[in-house]
Amino acid sequence: MAFSDSAFGAVVTCKCPRCRKADMFTNKNPYIFNEMAKMPKHCPNCGLKLEPETGFYYGSMYLSYAIGVFSSLLFFAILNFGFGIQTTYAFIIVAGLWLLGSPYLFRFSRALWLSLYVNRHRDI
Ligand SMILES: [Zn+2]
Repeated sequence: MAFSDSAFGAVVTCKCPRCRKADMFTNKNPYIFNEMAKMPKHCPNCGLKLEPETGFYYGSMYLSYAIGVFSSLLFFAILNFGFGIQTTYAFIIVAGLWLLGSPYLFRFSRALWLSLYVNRHRDI
């Protein structure tokens, strides 16, 4: 059983939440910025509509923000209080990681948002 066969694995690997086989995004690499948000209209494997309605992914921005803030605060606390790294350096490290991770976080939150609405055995 592959990692992407589980619901969590499908979100982490940005696979279609229904079939968990096909990629949700046209290009696998999230760091090609002009193709970062490109998605096919339908899943090439099962035909699930990947954008059920216009503006569907606005909600994923809130998810992305919440995940980014929570993980950054947690990571900052671990660096600053756990490892005793000076506040300024801990902030710079966390800010750098957020910048580097934001293209992936963008995709992760879209995959998570869609998976919250998709019943594996029915259309939305
Ligand atoms: Zn599919």
